[in-house]
Amino acid sequence: MTEDYYKVLGVDKNASQDEIKAKFRELAKKYHPDVNAGSKQAEEKFKEVAEAYEVLSDPQKRQQYDTTGSTTFNDAGGAGGAGFNWNDFSHFDDINDIFNTIFGGGGGFSRGNSGGFGGYDNSPDLDIYVKLNVTLEDAYYGVSKPIKFKRNAMCEACNGTGAENGILVTCPTCHGTGKERLSRGQGFFNFVQVIVCRTCNGRGKIPKTPCKICTGRGYIPKMENISITIPKGVDTNTRLRTQKLGNSFGGMTGDLYAVIYVQPNPNIKRSGDNLYIKEPIDFPTAALGGTVEVVLFKEKFNLNIPAGSQPDDVLKIKGSGMPKLTSHGSGDILIVLKLQVPKHLSSKEKELIEELKGEPAKKSWFHSF
Ligand SMILES: [Zn+2]
Ligand SMILES: [Zn+2]
Repeated sequence: MTEDYYKVLGVDKNASQDEIKAKFRELAKKYHPDVNAGSKQAEEKFKEVAEAYEVLSDPQKRQQYDTTGSTTFNDAGGAGGAGFNWNDFSHFDDINDIFNTIFGGGGGFSRGNSGGFGGYDNSPDLDIYVKLNVTLEDAYYGVSKPIKFKRNAMCEACNGTGAENGILVTCPTCHGTGKERLSRGQGFFNFVQVIVCRTCNGRGKIPKTPCKICTGRGYIPKMENISITIPKGVDTNTRLRTQKLGNSFGGMTGDLYAVIYVQPNPNIKRSGDNLYIKEPIDFPTAALGGTVEVVLFKEKFNLNIPAGSQPDDVLKIKGSGMPKLTSHGSGDILIVLKLQVPKHLSSKEKELIEELKGEPAKKSWFHSF
């Protein structure tokens, strides 16, 4: 059951609409996230207060609530029994504004970014991410790859300050706080929304005279052509960082991240540092044993097949798989034996197999599986 709306607002059952308005305004201000930075409790309280006000401020709803105690209103717009639809403030634009401000719709709150502007972060992303496709062979041997990308490089003429001779003055809009307080809504819904100062982009300072080279921005768009060294053992989503090759803003420069994507190889399956290879072998080798040559990229391995090997048996070449990215050594190569049955036989082969088939002592070979 919903809490007593009168109690929530702290008003008497006979309170006038004006008293209810006044009380709501007082409580909403008290619990507004603007003054309760990040407090979950205050946010909850604010929602409760708004819900109570939503009902008690509407004479029709209030009357229904008074007589039935019900919070399910015919015009609530929500599913039956929901009682209160958080999204339905259509008749109350000011509340829309307030809630957008709080719950992220309008920006300004709960962005959760740490951009160095006290949480009110609208600053551009300093780090740059570039996807880099490599083959499994590249990952095995390591490789150097050229990449081309655009970034905002620090203006060297002004050292990224955007100001001629580096001279900055306090921003007249925000007086150095980097934040602007906007008055939102009207009448008793007069709330303050905090945004990043639009004059100084949150820096609190502006150039006394804008730098002529970068027109006061502190950075210059630049195309970069560099080589990324890809170490042995990288996998999809490995991030390779190159410091100070990200975007510049406000005198700070981010990093470049090359994010690796290892293209699948049709013949080799990777599982962590282990590599699985399918190796075709013929029946005589499986039956009698022998040696096959296993090829992995530029490497060749002689593999002993034990007599009596079965289809899909797995043999291991230890320590020759994918090099480990963060430690010494390598995974293993696992060879899955694929028994090949010839589709076309010479008459000689046919004869020999027929002979084998008739050989009573060997019949068990064919019936053992
Ligand atoms: Zn400049
Ligand atoms: Zn400012």
